[in-house]
Amino acid sequence: MATLNLTILGSTGSIGLSTLDVVRRHPSRYRVEALCAHRQADLLFEQCCEFRPGYAVIGDAARADALRSRLQAAGLTTEVESGPEALERAASLPQVDAVMAAIVGAAGLRPTLAAAKSGKRILLANKEALVMAGPVFMHAVREHGAVLLPIDSEHNAIFQSLPDDFQSDLSNSLPARGVRRLLLTASGGPFRQRDPASLVSVTPEQAVAHPNWSMGRKISVDSATMMNKGLEVIEAHWLFGMDADRIDVVIHPQSVVHSMVEYVDGSVIAQLGNPDMRTPIAHALAYPERIDAGVAPLDLFRIGRLDFEAPDFGRFPCLALAFRALRAGGSAPATLNAANEVAVEAFLNGKLGFTEIAPLISATLDALPARPLDTLDDVLAADEAARGLARAHLADRAAA
Ligand code: NAD
Ligand code: MG
Repeated sequence: MATLNLTILGSTGSIGLSTLDVVRRHPSRYRVEALCAHRQADLLFEQCCEFRPGYAVIGDAARADALRSRLQAAGLTTEVESGPEALERAASLPQVDAVMAAIVGAAGLRPTLAAAKSGKRILLANKEALVMAGPVFMHAVREHGAVLLPIDSEHNAIFQSLPDDFQSDLSNSLPARGVRRLLLTASGGPFRQRDPASLVSVTPEQAVAHPNWSMGRKISVDSATMMNKGLEVIEAHWLFGMDADRIDVVIHPQSVVHSMVEYVDGSVIAQLGNPDMRTPIAHALAYPERIDAGVAPLDLFRIGRLDFEAPDFGRFPCLALAFRALRAGGSAPATLNAANEVAVEAFLNGKLGFTEIAPLISATLDALPARPLDTLDDVLAADEAARGLARAHLADRAAA
């Protein structure tokens, strides 16, 4: 078995740490070629000492200088760089086979696209990149023969529940393969049952306390608003080529059924497991083989029951906004994503109320009609326009 050489974009985040945990269990299978982080220099230093990558990237030049000196003093020859170009280089190094795309938000787009353009196996956690640049990204994947494996637990579950011939060729049409619907499960987050009138007073700490999953702060807020599920609907559309009408959201509070595929003969195939991201990560790292992920076996007797309910679009307006953006097409998903990133950051910084997140995104979508989205420049223009407008709305609110 040949060793798989890896770049990990976002190695200090929640997905990055889980990835390294799986890699650590299989030292002869995986070699870490490049580690990339934004600000956490101490943690990146420790990771370099343990995994001895040839290349490391950190957000700014000052941190890079300090990290370089520390690594040299520790006797390591790791090359250290900083900035966006360095991330793209890490994602396209010739000796790298697979890239874990686990940067959060739009910052992950360019390096993930660079991995696609160099034909890598892409382990895609960074859903924002696909949401904002769907057609551009999928085109690059096909044109350069990259292999796209979903890490998001729902999409990984769907991938595992699809016909084998689709798994080996993402251009197969699913309806032609007998697939009727994709059923994306959602826990409903921390506020599924909370009185909607009380949501105005939600604090960042309450919003990031997810009942089932331990994740980064941005995606945790997205889970509380259910924008995360909305982004995932758009992600599923691009990954699996299914129309919005064929993608349903199912609330499933236990987070054991990670998603399902419904076939025309009435069969529904699901993937189950404990809510632990090391399962989809190990699946994608080893695909089509299976390796130990360090995840505890699923104890169905302890879980006892699995519940399902319909989503409440009134309680979770962000979910409706995402369907609206997907149906509008073109630049609308990029606008949705950018406005959401601005809104979530403002919420986490105490500058926007929890119930003001959806109105800010809605106002941004209203003001920026969908335009064609065919190139990276189109994506970046849509992203920038939406951020500018959302920030202007925020400033108006602060002044009022
Ligand atoms: P996180 O906040 O824990 O980690 C983010 C990582 O991105 C960090 O390593 C950080 O250094 C890096 N980063 C942030 N901004 C950057 C920038 N400007 N340039 C370079 N690097 C930057 O986030 P996470 O929870 O690990 O999520 C990562 C991605 O995976 C997100 O897109 C998220 O939606 C997706 N995802 C996460 C989970 C989960 O369980 N955590 C599940 C499904 C999908
Ligand atoms: Mg998910």
